[in-house]
Amino acid sequence: MTGASRGRRRGLSAAELAVTRHLLVHGPATRQALGDHLNLSYASTSRLARALVDDGVASEALDGEPAVGRPRQVLAAVPGARHVAGFKLTADTAFGVVCDMFGEVKATARATLPEPDHDGSVPVAGSIKVIAQLTRKLARRVPTLDGVGVAIGGVVADRAIVQEGTFLGWRDVDLATPIEQRTGLPVIVTNDVTALAREQLWFGAGRTHATFGVLTVGAGVGFAVVREGVAVERLIDNGHLLAHAPVDPRGPRCRLGHPGCVAAYLNREDAEDRASGAVPRPVTFGGLAQASRSGDEQSGRQLADAARALGHLVATFAGALQTTCIVLAGEDVAALTASPEIDEVIADRLRPGPREVQRCALEIVSTPLTFTDWARGAAVAGIQHVLGGA
Ligand SMILES: [Zn+2]
Repeated sequence: MTGASRGRRRGLSAAELAVTRHLLVHGPATRQALGDHLNLSYASTSRLARALVDDGVASEALDGEPAVGRPRQVLAAVPGARHVAGFKLTADTAFGVVCDMFGEVKATARATLPEPDHDGSVPVAGSIKVIAQLTRKLARRVPTLDGVGVAIGGVVADRAIVQEGTFLGWRDVDLATPIEQRTGLPVIVTNDVTALAREQLWFGAGRTHATFGVLTVGAGVGFAVVREGVAVERLIDNGHLLAHAPVDPRGPRCRLGHPGCVAAYLNREDAEDRASGAVPRPVTFGGLAQASRSGDEQSGRQLADAARALGHLVATFAGALQTTCIVLAGEDVAALTASPEIDEVIADRLRPGPREVQRCALEIVSTPLTFTDWARGAAVAGIQHVLGGA
């Protein structure tokens, strides 16, 4: 593997990283504009530009012929300066991609994880072997890998240790060290929704919002937070407080026994328990929508209730985080966001009282995701990691 990689590159300084990030997020810029935006002197900006050009991270060209004064130097990030392999692990599969600095997918590969042991946990050593083999496979397609990012559902500490791997049955598993040893590359392990938030921070909602929330609906409900331009690496509760917020005290109970909490409507297992026989198995919200269109009223009601619960969850999340932007993502989010109930609930929650003058509007960004998109999130987290431990 070491032969296929370029070896470890030096991380960028905080100021170099700030310039690079600006170029990746907002596109090419003149030295003057960069200095203005980042509050740097022209001399500092020039020195940083030279260092980044020497490093191959950025290139500089003269900007045509301006009407007034001398031609301006325009700095741009070099897409191929870094490549990182990203993996999303589900309960049974590793989905892999290679991305360049702009998060462009250059290659994909996937492999099945080992069968769970008798205790239900997926074998760790076998899974690490699968990730190393996939990295080698991807390195044959893009032979200049600089790092690896791995995203999983659950709780991750120190960007390395899986304290709780929700769908893999893992507890306190050091995932980064053995993958580093096998591949010779720096490795970052993150919660999968946090990885999506890091991707959105550079290439999505973060372009226009310093603070935003990411909410995913898939096997369960997932959360991530970006506050003032920084992705929160680890939530205090893995999203538990929001996932079990009450919606309707007369509603169905979740697996923990709460009547009518968010999870009771949106967790896939809970939804599956209540779905009518007309819904294709395994149950998805897309499947509920399909059964509803075919005339199954129970499915229509279940989908509407779930969309209402999601509307409440979005409103509560935005209010608690004090952001106008929530990104809704996940492999099963499209049927919910297409339901009118979600917009009705949010509009009602925002409706001002008779003497209230302040108006607020929420921007709900909906991005249906494939597992390749999740793996791309892991790769972008990896890019940020290899560039400067961001
Ligand atoms: Zn609950």
